Amino acid sequence: MNLKILIANPGSTSYKCKLYDIANLTVLFQATVERIGDKEGFFSYSFNEVEKKIIKQEIPDYCCAVNLTLELIKGKFSLDEIAAIGFKTVHAKGITGCVELTNEVLTAMEDYRMLAPVHTDVYITAITVLQKLLKSTPLIGLFETHFHKNIPPEAYLYGIPYEFTQKYGIRKYGFHGASHRFIGMRAKELFFADKVISCHLGGSSSVCAIKDGWSIDTSMGMSPQSGLLNAKRVGDLDPFALLYFMEKENLSIDQVANILMSKSGLFGISGKSGDFRDIEKDMNEGDDQARLAFKTFAYYVRRYIGEYLVALNSADCIVFTAGAGQNSPLLRKEILMNMENLGIVLDEEKNNSNPKEGLISSDDSKVKIAVIPTNEEFIVVSEIKKFIENK
Ligand code: ADP
Repeated sequence: MNLKILIANPGSTSYKCKLYDIANLTVLFQATVERIGDKEGFFSYSFNEVEKKIIKQEIPDYCCAVNLTLELIKGKFSLDEIAAIGFKTVHAKGITGCVELTNEVLTAMEDYRMLAPVHTDVYITAITVLQKLLKSTPLIGLFETHFHKNIPPEAYLYGIPYEFTQKYGIRKYGFHGASHRFIGMRAKELFFADKVISCHLGGSSSVCAIKDGWSIDTSMGMSPQSGLLNAKRVGDLDPFALLYFMEKENLSIDQVANILMSKSGLFGISGKSGDFRDIEKDMNEGDDQARLAFKTFAYYVRRYIGEYLVALNSADCIVFTAGAGQNSPLLRKEILMNMENLGIVLDEEKNNSNPKEGLISSDDSKVKIAVIPTNEEFIVVSEIKKFIENK
């Protein structure tokens, strides 16, 4: 039997999956179901990365979305050949690494639900649906926090009474682990880089200092709401500023969580959008709030790059990845301006040519600057393959 791994990637209104051949990790089938719960739903799929088909159809719920993809897979393969289903799980109290998603793990995910509610809810829904539909197939999660397991205490501790750290695990964990790990690996392959600063800049953004393939520090903390500004999520904020406006506005925990998660970040400052494409367009049309959001975001990234140049004692390579990191020369230029004295020099022409993958630093830049498309699923499927083999 030719064994396979199914990687499930649930979003708040979408479900994506890829079926991999375990032997060589090639993609046999992939599907994206969008606008779940909406009359205008649709899905697209392809086998062996050719002949992509798009079908419009109402997809009332998650169960229907997952079922659709399983039916398509059944048309070509037996579901018994699926050795495991893998997830890029986010956060669970006291648990990280690559683990089987037992009831105990799901309870630990629930425990930290408040820290990443959007992600945790959709993951738990997808896990429950797949558990029901493929009863005997093990479900395995690679937690996003795993890549940051070697961050030292001086970098992960907060200045709160230590008993809270011990009791509730209050500390920095870091996220985007699969993405940063892939970037560290690829920068080593392409440029022999051992010390990498990875900038994952998209709807959700973080910077990571990578040494010899593992994170030593990262911008997100205990929750993915910290660090850089995100599209609509807040990023770093003085805890007393928060207490002050909670009191002034008489806000409950739920109300303030909603503001910090869906009305803040780039959206909060620009007042219009959390999408870099809109922000750049508005900024070019003279919108000052959009300019402020753009410049603030870039300054946060600069600040973390500075921190990690110190943590790494300089870097071999700074990498830009994810939606905005890969596609916005303007953002990269704003982030890296005036760093010549640090040995960081962008080549404007290469930057503007927006390579899919490659260097954008000038030949005399001591630190290489690169664009690399991330591939989180590759990391997840590789780890799950190892997990199954070790079992
Ligand atoms: P997510 O973090 O949501 O998975 P992505 O990595 O796909 O997101 O990044 C999505 C974001 O990337 C969009 O919200 C948009 O701001 C940004 N983006 C995509 N294409 C461009 C572009 N051509 N120019 C600037 N920003 C872009």
